[in-house]
Amino acid sequence: MSKQNLLGYTSRELEDLVAAMGDKAYRGRQLFRWLYKTRQYDFNLITDLSKDLRRRLHESYDFTGLSLARSAVSEDGTKKFVFRLYDGQPLETVLIPDESGRSTVCLSTQVGCALNCGFCATGKMGFRRNLSVGEIIGQLIYLRDWLGDNAFTNIVMMGMGEPLLNFDNVVKAVSVISAGDGLSVSAKKITVSTVGILDKIRRLADLKLKVRLAVSLNAAIQDKRIRIMPIAQSCSLEELSDTLRYYTEKTSTRVTFEYILFDGFNDSIDDVMAISRYIQGIPCKINLLAYNPVEGAEFGRPSDEKVDWFARQLYPRAPAVTVRKSRGRDIDAACGQLAARHLMKE
Ligand code: SF4
Repeated sequence: MSKQNLLGYTSRELEDLVAAMGDKAYRGRQLFRWLYKTRQYDFNLITDLSKDLRRRLHESYDFTGLSLARSAVSEDGTKKFVFRLYDGQPLETVLIPDESGRSTVCLSTQVGCALNCGFCATGKMGFRRNLSVGEIIGQLIYLRDWLGDNAFTNIVMMGMGEPLLNFDNVVKAVSVISAGDGLSVSAKKITVSTVGILDKIRRLADLKLKVRLAVSLNAAIQDKRIRIMPIAQSCSLEELSDTLRYYTEKTSTRVTFEYILFDGFNDSIDDVMAISRYIQGIPCKINLLAYNPVEGAEFGRPSDEKVDWFARQLYPRAPAVTVRKSRGRDIDAACGQLAARHLMKE
């Protein structure tokens, strides 16, 4: 009989499991700490549990991480990993170090994506399935097992998939990641990035999880946004701004607008003016990023001079503007690109 994998179980679920085995519920909290914080996966070595409980856990359960299929390291230190899931699906994770010694993990939340943004390698794969809580957390566990407790400082859910379309699993994963006895990463260091799933942004605001919210804007002119992001057909910029106002008021935080610059498409002074009008009344900052073309994309990458010009035009009209550097361009930089290639090879 195959054992049940406890990877992804919350503290409450482990309490319930241990209670159902006839032991005290608080033993489940101890188990949670051993598995996620101490990273001791051999039940026999969890010495503050009774011998009998350890034996029964060992008989029926395990704690099994992800298995690596492929990895690549960029000249700039960015590392990409493709994991093979139990059903053969690929899962991609990226680890991005910066000059200040911090490292950001770009987590995936789905295999593929249904939203088909015109510029995105993951969108071209189509939607395969949601990741389980264990598969989301497993990406972080893998990095800690490999590189130790300081493997990463920040987490962005900007890898494959739209996190808010896997809402319940993402919320559960955040609870395990941010728990002091769990992975112990402050919610403030976790960014959930969305194209703008309105009802889920409101739910996230109501939960007050304290995670950061990033929104892929990419155009502040409705027709242009529809052209590159099909989701914009059912979600107008106006509805999105109403929802973001709700979010920022409810959480007392600001949102980050992600704006990918496509050469000759959304990088004119009209686009600058549209953004500056759009963000009025929304506490925010704006991250600009020059596009990394994926195979078959209809847009190109703007020059560095054009990106600088755009940032200089935008800055006095927006409260905070940052230009993000493209990382890992030599190892299939765009999210989902390495996993998509892996699939094609197979
Ligand atoms: S950009 Fe995000 S939402 Fe759009 S297709 Fe890619 S993964 Fe999906």
